[in-house]
Amino acid sequence: MLESKKNRSISRRDLVKVASAGVGTIALGGIGAQSATAAETVPARWDVEADVVVIGSGATGLTAAIVAKEAGASVIVVEAENHIGGHAIVSGGTVVLGGGTSAQKKYGIVDSPDLLFRDLTDWSVAEPNGAPDYRYNDREVVRAFADNAARTCEWLIAHGVAFMDIAPGSFDAVTSGNSAPRSMYAAAMHWPNVLTGKPLDAEFQSVIATGAGLMRPLQAAAEKAGVKILLEHRMTAIYRENPNAGQVLGIAVDNNGKKINIRAGNAAIIGTGGSTGNVNFRRMFDPRLTEEYCGLAGMPWSNQDASGELAATAVGASLWGLANQTAEFGSVLSKAGFIGSQYNYMAMDMLVLPWMPGSEVFDKARASGLRVANWQDAILVNMLGKRFYDETASAFTANGYNSISSYTQDSYLNAKNVKYSPNNFINAALAGIGDEHNGGGPIWAIFDADAVARESWDPTPPNVDIEAGFFFSANSLAGLASAIKMQYQRVPMPPDNLEKAVTRYNSFVDSGVDADFGKPKPLHKIAKPPFYAAWATPNVHDTRAGLRISARCEVMDMNGAVIAGLYCGGESAGGFSQHGLARAICQGLIAGTNAVA
Ligand SMILES: Cc1cc2nc3c(=O)[nH]c(=O)nc-3n(C[C@H](O)[C@H](O)[C@H](O)COP(=O)(O)OP(=O)(O)OC[C@H]3O[C@@H](n4cnc5c(N)ncnc54)[C@H](O)[C@@H]3O)c2cc1C
Repeated sequence: MLESKKNRSISRRDLVKVASAGVGTIALGGIGAQSATAAETVPARWDVEADVVVIGSGATGLTAAIVAKEAGASVIVVEAENHIGGHAIVSGGTVVLGGGTSAQKKYGIVDSPDLLFRDLTDWSVAEPNGAPDYRYNDREVVRAFADNAARTCEWLIAHGVAFMDIAPGSFDAVTSGNSAPRSMYAAAMHWPNVLTGKPLDAEFQSVIATGAGLMRPLQAAAEKAGVKILLEHRMTAIYRENPNAGQVLGIAVDNNGKKINIRAGNAAIIGTGGSTGNVNFRRMFDPRLTEEYCGLAGMPWSNQDASGELAATAVGASLWGLANQTAEFGSVLSKAGFIGSQYNYMAMDMLVLPWMPGSEVFDKARASGLRVANWQDAILVNMLGKRFYDETASAFTANGYNSISSYTQDSYLNAKNVKYSPNNFINAALAGIGDEHNGGGPIWAIFDADAVARESWDPTPPNVDIEAGFFFSANSLAGLASAIKMQYQRVPMPPDNLEKAVTRYNSFVDSGVDADFGKPKPLHKIAKPPFYAAWATPNVHDTRAGLRISARCEVMDMNGAVIAGLYCGGESAGGFSQHGLARAICQGLIAGTNAVA
């Protein structure tokens, strides 16, 4: 396992060096485009009809579509983008299932649905900053996952997904529970990685996981089964018999300006992937998350614009498990892994690549960003040019196998044994800076020519995004501060502030002690021009709260009653604080099954 993990990260890092030319047009839109909707009147005439209409072709949607089609229903998938896959195809392809999968059995790992359920509802599991991973999970929703997780694994294998032939591990096992290793890795195989546009070299195809290794086989299975996938068909409304009562009858979609009404004979399934890309929606949970947090992980491949949540609440659906969205753990909010580009998400251990010029969406991503190997090579300053925290500090942690050693399910000793360590990096970055704005404004990585040499960076396009204002350089620090002009820099950075911050930091290098923020032994002065400012603002990632669903993935209303004919799974569903693919695929399977039954 260890060796394979090492292989994976080295080879992926090597891949990053493949960058070449070609920056496309600048379009900063996308975040928060969807606005609130009201219930629409049921159309007199339908343009298209299917038994089951699935909204979104990501992890939830494609799974649900295949299941429903194989159960005998006619199925249409509508996808907003001009490509399938959602965040799932951009992902690292780690799927945390468990509960007694064939892979666990093969490698002698003891697990069961009960063990999994109790892990994922254990009130006593807390992160070092005190945030509880599972305390606010809906027992009914998690029970359904625990009972179906192993089945989901076998279903994926039966539908062409080739998992790496290694023991299920704990790598990337965020929010997978403490008692057993449950991570499985969807081998990349020959499928091109959407981040690079290329397949991996043959020697790595079965030992490195990618989202394409998960989603391309599912796409093939959907096509083979006869699922109809309509690209560039964006759901804009859900039709219900009455605005707040009766059966869901169908949906409205926008196809490049043309409205089409699609009748759903049995059911509509929402697999729209969450809400963190919608500024107004996400601020219901966390008012700090204003516009400057524009680096949504998974963008620009697909957004999480809350369109599923908004359309469903417009016909009476309830939201659920809202505490999970504000809890400070895992990848709900991430520290920038790449700097100098708008989309700067990086998963642990360099497993997720940046956007590369060969990707079909690179014209929207515009730059790959510079991967920071060592935060000793830069300081981070806020919009006003002031340092705010130890740059080497990490983002929020999350619970997985063996995160708590000597773990006993549901024991107060678990929380007691976690060494408290608040790690407020993200909170410090997001803190307001004294004006009336709620968010913290842009965060800039400041470094000099020597840092560029140490990191072997090439600070030119397409590695950095100069044109859209995510990267600046100048021959003096004052000149650098004055040069920073872009849409989220609400006030000019006072040159004096930046000069003072760097001078003080350089004095910490002399003394060997960061007297302000405790960065462990600051090593390098920022002294040799040119000086650089690279976008390093935290990014938004997971949605952990969404529509209220039953164990059968039926959407429920504010009275706790099922809305007939409406299902949901994945990041648009609430009640389950788990990162990623596993719950989405499992709930897709449950929703697809019940939509036909
Ligand atoms: C960089 C990155 C790495 C990740 N790595 C991992 C990992 O290794 N392991 C893991 O478990 N998780 C990982 N994740 C998270 C995982 O990809 C998501 O949690 C998962 O894909 C969510 O599934 P979903 O079906 O809810 O949404 P998605 O897979 O995002 O699918 C939603 C789809 O709905 C479409 N859509 C949205 N609105 C509409 C609309 N109105 N009409 C029509 N279509 C619409 C979207 O375009 C999209 O195609 C990663 C995510 C990212 C971004």
